[in-house]
Amino acid sequence: MPELPEVESQAKDLRHWALNRPIKAVWVGWPKTIARMSAQKFSKRLIGRRFKKIWRRGKFIIMELDEGLALVSHFRMTGHFRLANIKDSTSAREWFLYPPDRFTRVAFKLDRDQVLHFSDIRKFGRLWLVPLSEVSRLPELKSLGPEPLDPGFGPQDFVKCARRYKGIIKPVLLNQSCVAGIGNIYADESLFDAAIHPKTRVDKIPDKDLAQLFKYIRANLAAAVKHRGSSVGEFINMKGDSGEHGFYLRVYGQRGKPCQRRRDGTRCRGTVKRIVVAQRGTHICPVCQRIKR
Ligand SMILES: [Zn+2]
Repeated sequence: MPELPEVESQAKDLRHWALNRPIKAVWVGWPKTIARMSAQKFSKRLIGRRFKKIWRRGKFIIMELDEGLALVSHFRMTGHFRLANIKDSTSAREWFLYPPDRFTRVAFKLDRDQVLHFSDIRKFGRLWLVPLSEVSRLPELKSLGPEPLDPGFGPQDFVKCARRYKGIIKPVLLNQSCVAGIGNIYADESLFDAAIHPKTRVDKIPDKDLAQLFKYIRANLAAAVKHRGSSVGEFINMKGDSGEHGFYLRVYGQRGKPCQRRRDGTRCRGTVKRIVVAQRGTHICPVCQRIKR
């Protein structure tokens, strides 16, 4: 599932490729991708609009259009945007078929014979078309916590928020209310760095360890943004290339590999293990990350 770094990479690509360009036509192949609106209405309102400003909030991309509208996306499991060129041989009625991609759910024809595809194998991704003034009031966006890469949001703010929860730590990272944009990959990596077992109860973690965990979350997300995300599962960028951060993951998807942590010059003897925490596959080193009771 794309998380903050992957979504940021797509937002950056969209700024590069779509900004100031007009939408000439819209094709909807899977109407459920469009939230709260019929496919007909969605298409009709978008034709003739231009992308004016594009930014990310949590795992959402907000594309500001002219005439006070905004196109908002959430990728959920497998959604992503792709830019494609229409072949010379493509007929005017078949522009959305190139390149042949049976997972394209919605396609936007731009100028200069290019098409922006919203491709989504699992079909959980969503697009909203709303007045710009209503974006921050969308229920899905309203409850989002602060942006972890925002310098105005610090470890103490995170500690204060986490203290409101009585349960175990991992779901607190995933629920988006204390820190926006983090998901399974970067939660596992950051808990590993902080040597905290994902099933540790929040009230058993001292303030200084929670603050340290936040610093690792920020460092992991910043590094992954630099590497244009991790291509775990289906994630690719708009030109179809993979993100590079996958090479740097220490526990996520590394089951059976030796733990890379070094202490006093010697390597940890642990082996990365996959467990289930709050219904999510979770990767830990059972030697470095022990549950405090
Ligand atoms: Zn270890």
